[in-house]
Amino acid sequence: MTQVYDHGGGVRALRVPIPDNPLGHTLVYVVDTDRGPVLVDTGWDDPDSWDTLVAGLDACGTSAGQIHGVVVTHHHPDHHGLSGRVREASGAWIAMHEADGAIVRRTRETRPERWFTYMSAKLEAAGAPEEHVAPLRSGGRRRHPGFSPALPDRAIVPGELLDLPGRRLRAIWTPGHTPGHVCLHLEEDHPAQLPGHGRLFSGDHLLPEITPHIGLYEDPDDATITDPLGDYLDSLERVGRLAPAEVLPAHQHAFTDAGARVRELLAHHEDRLTGLLTLLAEPLTPWQLAERMEWNRPWSQIPYGSRTIAVSEAEAHLRRLVKLGRAEAVTGGEPVTYVAV
Ligand SMILES: [Zn+2]
Ligand SMILES: [Zn+2]
Repeated sequence: MTQVYDHGGGVRALRVPIPDNPLGHTLVYVVDTDRGPVLVDTGWDDPDSWDTLVAGLDACGTSAGQIHGVVVTHHHPDHHGLSGRVREASGAWIAMHEADGAIVRRTRETRPERWFTYMSAKLEAAGAPEEHVAPLRSGGRRRHPGFSPALPDRAIVPGELLDLPGRRLRAIWTPGHTPGHVCLHLEEDHPAQLPGHGRLFSGDHLLPEITPHIGLYEDPDDATITDPLGDYLDSLERVGRLAPAEVLPAHQHAFTDAGARVRELLAHHEDRLTGLLTLLAEPLTPWQLAERMEWNRPWSQIPYGSRTIAVSEAEAHLRRLVKLGRAEAVTGGEPVTYVAV
């Protein structure tokens, strides 16, 4: 059963499944334009997901072959996965912010060995125990199937209207979850006249019930000390100021009162940073901090892959605290520890 939800005003949502993932679905939006439908995100690259997308487009009275363009909120595979297949079927263009486009290019060009070497060095520096790092080192020697996300044809330029004939869709750069994440602001009256300014396709940036993962922007070729959590908090304020009448996120469900959700998320991160300062009364490595942080289950039950993500999230919080002058690195030791100041 393909579920189509009509949001009115030439915008529909399709629930495209993400295999083996607690998130369940990506909401793919079909936006009518004078040149044919444009998709906001496409869904996971999997045969079932593709069949669901195709059936959903049929149920909307169009087809995969008629898609005019694909606007990608960010490069993650639950958003960008099927973009290549849509382009093959229709000749649609694919648009993405340059910073995420660069990640796609790097993913296509980087040999898996280089990635595993980079990640194992990073985890070692973060204080990960040998049993966590070892599988990455041996993984680097095994053969890995090629991973080849579709190269975008167009760059999404922050602040500019996208080339969507008959529609006003403006790109709002919202780095944090990824360096090139964008929200798309549909600057048109709400079809049900809800109060506020248009509608916002929020990708993973602003979700009604979950907080997106904020980790480091892992890049083997760039040693810049970025501050993804700081970027994310700034981006939250940016979309809060837009005051959209309704938010159309890429997971879960549509919602109103973006400002309230933004305030909740800002308060959540402030609480979390304050909690971390308490833990940092003694010097801790990022790994030790991750072990002591609150997650959705006890550390002992967090599986291997999620621990890597958790330590990246701990590091993003440490970066923020250091940048704010609320914590500092203790020099001289290996691996480096951090302490509240
Ligand atoms: Zn994502
Ligand atoms: Zn997502």
